Amino acid sequence: MSLDLVVTDARLPGRASPVSIGIRAGRVAEIAPAIVCDAPRLPAGGRLAIAGFVDSHVHLDKACLLGRCGHDHGDLKAAIAAVSALKRDFTEDDVYARGARCLDRAIGFGTTHMRAHVEVDPRAGLRSFEALRRLKRDYAWAIELQLCAFPQEGLTNDPGCDPLLVEALDGGADLLGGCPYTDANPEAQLDRLFDLARAYDVDLDLHLDFDLDPSWGHLEDVCRRAEAYGRGGRVTIGHATKLSAMTPNAFERAARRLSDAGVAVTALPATDLYLNGRDRPFDTPRGVTRVHELERRGVLCSVATNNVMNPFTPFGDLSLMRMANLYANVAQVGPDGFPACLDLVTAGPARLMNLADYGIAVGRQADVVVLDAPDAETAIAEIALPVFGLKRGRLSFERPAPTLMPPPG
Ligand SMILES: [Zn+2]
Repeated sequence: MSLDLVVTDARLPGRASPVSIGIRAGRVAEIAPAIVCDAPRLPAGGRLAIAGFVDSHVHLDKACLLGRCGHDHGDLKAAIAAVSALKRDFTEDDVYARGARCLDRAIGFGTTHMRAHVEVDPRAGLRSFEALRRLKRDYAWAIELQLCAFPQEGLTNDPGCDPLLVEALDGGADLLGGCPYTDANPEAQLDRLFDLARAYDVDLDLHLDFDLDPSWGHLEDVCRRAEAYGRGGRVTIGHATKLSAMTPNAFERAARRLSDAGVAVTALPATDLYLNGRDRPFDTPRGVTRVHELERRGVLCSVATNNVMNPFTPFGDLSLMRMANLYANVAQVGPDGFPACLDLVTAGPARLMNLADYGIAVGRQADVVVLDAPDAETAIAEIALPVFGLKRGRLSFERPAPTLMPPPG
C-alpha cells in the first residue's frame, strides 16, 4: 500500500537513532529507520518530533482583555471581579475574535490539542460557549478543542447558573469544570458537579484552590467523591497551589491520596506565579505546585497556559514550550528532569485528557510537530521553536528559521 507522505530523519523521544514516519490517510502507517517509496518527503533534519503540545487548561473566552480593564487588580478576587464586570458585554463575535487570536498563536507554537475552560453563568449566558463551539469547528483542521463548561463565580449561590450548565452539556460541552472556592457552599457544588458528570458521563476539571494555606482545603472532598462516584482517571484539579505550601510529609500524603483516587493535577505557572504571595512583598513564595514530583509519585499531571493577557495574567503567547521552560526554571528542575518537563506539556496532559489517539505510533492519528532541537533536554533548555507541524497527516503550519543577513565581504 502506498504512503501519502514520509517525514524523514526525525528523532522520537527516548529513541537513539532517527526514523522515518510514513503516513497514510491521516494516520501513522509505518515507523522505520528508512522508508523507500515515491511519496513526498518532509525532512526533519535529525530534529525531535512529538505529537504536538497538549494544553490542558486555557481560558480563551477571557483572553486578551488588557486594553479594556488594565491589569493591576492586586489579587485573584479582584481579577475575577474585573472580568465579571466585563463579561456581560461579551458578544459571541468578540469572544470568537479573541479566541481565534489565541488559537492562531497556539497552532504556530505546535499545540495540537487544547482543553478550553469556558464560563457559563447568567452574565455570560451561553454566548462564550457558542463562540467556542464555532472555534472548535473552524479550527479542527489544526487543533482539537475540548470544551469545559464551568461556573467561575459559584454555582449554588448563582441563581440561573445550573440550568445554563445543563444546557451547555446538552449542547455539546465535552466536560464540566468547577470552582468550589468561589461557591458559598463548596461541598454542595462538588456534589452537583459529580452528579452531572456521572449523568452525562463526562470528565471533571476543577479549579480547586488558589492560595498558600494548606491548613484546610477540598482535596480530600474531591478524592472521596472521585472514589465514591467511580470517576478515577476522569477528574483533574487545577492550580491546587496549597500543595506548593505543604510540608514534605503532608505533600507525600496528598500525593498518595491523589494517586489512589485517580485524581490528576495541573499547574498553571504563569498565573500561579503572578497572583500568589501578593501579601508577601519580600521573599515571595513561588506558589507553583511541584507537579513533576507528583508525577513521580504516580499522579497524572500537566503544566498548562491558563490565562493570557488579562487581569489574571498580563502575559502570554500560548507557547507550551516556553511554559515548560518556565516551570523547570521555577521548580528548579535540572537537565536530568527536562524530559519529564516535556512530558508535562505533551504525553501527560494527553493522558489527563483521555486522548486515546495521541502519540507518534503506528495506527495513531498522524499529528507530528518537529522541534528545532535534537532531544528533549535541548528543547526545554533552549525553548526550541517548532519548525513545522502536521495535523492528521496534513501540513498545518510552518515556522521558517530566521535568515541572518551579515554585510557582504
Ligand atoms: Zn483556569
